[in-house]
Amino acid sequence: MYNHASSTGSAFPAVEFDAEIIGKLSQSGPRYTSYPTADRFQSEFGYGQFLEAVAGLRMRRSSRPLSLYIHIPFCDTVCYYCGCNKIVTKDHSKAATYLDYLKQEIDMQGRLFAGMGKLEQLHFGGGTPTYLSDRQMGDLMAHLHASFDFAPDQQGEYSIEIDPRTVSVERVHSLRKQGFNRISLGVQDFDPDVQKAVNRIQPEAETRAVIDAAREAGFRSISIDLIYGLPKQSMTSMEQTLDKVIAANPDRIALYNYAHLPHLFKPQRRISEDDLPTPAVKLDLLALCIRRLCAAGYVYIGMDHFAKPDDELAVAQRQGRLQRNFQGYSTRAESELISCGVSAISAVGATYSQNEKTLEGYYEKLDEGRLPVVRGIKLENDDLLRRILIQKLMCNFELSIGSIEQSFPIRFGEYFATELQKLKAFEADGLLIVEPDWITVTPKGRLLIRNICMVFDRYLSQPRLGEAQPLRYSKTI
Ligand code: SF4
Repeated sequence: MYNHASSTGSAFPAVEFDAEIIGKLSQSGPRYTSYPTADRFQSEFGYGQFLEAVAGLRMRRSSRPLSLYIHIPFCDTVCYYCGCNKIVTKDHSKAATYLDYLKQEIDMQGRLFAGMGKLEQLHFGGGTPTYLSDRQMGDLMAHLHASFDFAPDQQGEYSIEIDPRTVSVERVHSLRKQGFNRISLGVQDFDPDVQKAVNRIQPEAETRAVIDAAREAGFRSISIDLIYGLPKQSMTSMEQTLDKVIAANPDRIALYNYAHLPHLFKPQRRISEDDLPTPAVKLDLLALCIRRLCAAGYVYIGMDHFAKPDDELAVAQRQGRLQRNFQGYSTRAESELISCGVSAISAVGATYSQNEKTLEGYYEKLDEGRLPVVRGIKLENDDLLRRILIQKLMCNFELSIGSIEQSFPIRFGEYFATELQKLKAFEADGLLIVEPDWITVTPKGRLLIRNICMVFDRYLSQPRLGEAQPLRYSKTI
């Protein structure tokens, strides 16, 4: 066991790794990018309900800033570990058709939100957003600027996920000129054997060239995605990957746990189970990553995220402005999230809404002149209460009971009597401390924050209607 405060001092939360407790408590559970989680969305919620939610904002004269997510579902080749909703094709003409429809959706959303808050956050995800050509991207960004009122570059966070295999140094400079100021790179692992085992060959020099170009081009934050638990990974290979990651000096690092669920994700069937690290080695890999990243000066933000102490994510956490949304941890807690593209999920007012998951369905709805919303949920008061509580725990590792009682007409001890009873087992394991006014997650409890939040998830104890298949949740650690 070890305990790491960041090298910059006690202002940052420490994280403590306890293999025994983690082994005992690891189970499947939600990642809480939303509450209620997406598997609770209902098909009764559609376009009409989404319009009502926007009308509600207008009636309240909401001027909350806007956050926009754009989903580009295409990839050139498949990575075997992938569990994303993507379309693998080398036929790039498909992207041109998709863009025509995407622009229609952007126009409709732009008209709906016209005159409301400024757009302060934009995120391009996928799939592979850089599947689009430079010209297509420039055209799409111009379209977005015509439809939404963007905050100036210094004020807004405009980010894109890139696959270093699909971009040149020139393309990186072009992305900056097109208005992006943050970039996140899929790396996963630098080891050639691991890369081969997951069908993602990406030479280190290529990745470093993209990172250097991003710095030169003036991107404000560079983020790297890593995965632990991949086939062929070992402590030695991970040490070497971490050396290279730390030398590349990104501002943020996302370290994801590979969830091997071949019954749900077809590409994973190409991974040989014999090549996967054992659960014990996987935990050692996680421990190694945490130890090395914290020793290199990164702050443990929560779940799978690390950031430099002066990165906006770490600053937002210190100021209590951190939130979790569909992109993971994010800095703008008070914005309306509008998402465009196939399968994309919006969070507007007290609702979540998801678009059609297939291209055919998505195109069909837009051809009918309707937004392609097909399911969602309107949050009840109890959902709103639990959402705030789970957000606070996920983002700040503590909860002020007084502030919850001030915002909601409840007596916390009575309302959550069952939950408080369940927390006693975690308290006995030293994962949290419950006091009359505060619930505080200890450094040992931070890695198990999903387990703690699950106690407050009302839906986990309710069967889902018409669902016979197992829950699509990954392991909590
Ligand atoms: S991991 Fe990313 S790049 Fe690879 S197939 Fe999945 S979505 Fe595409």
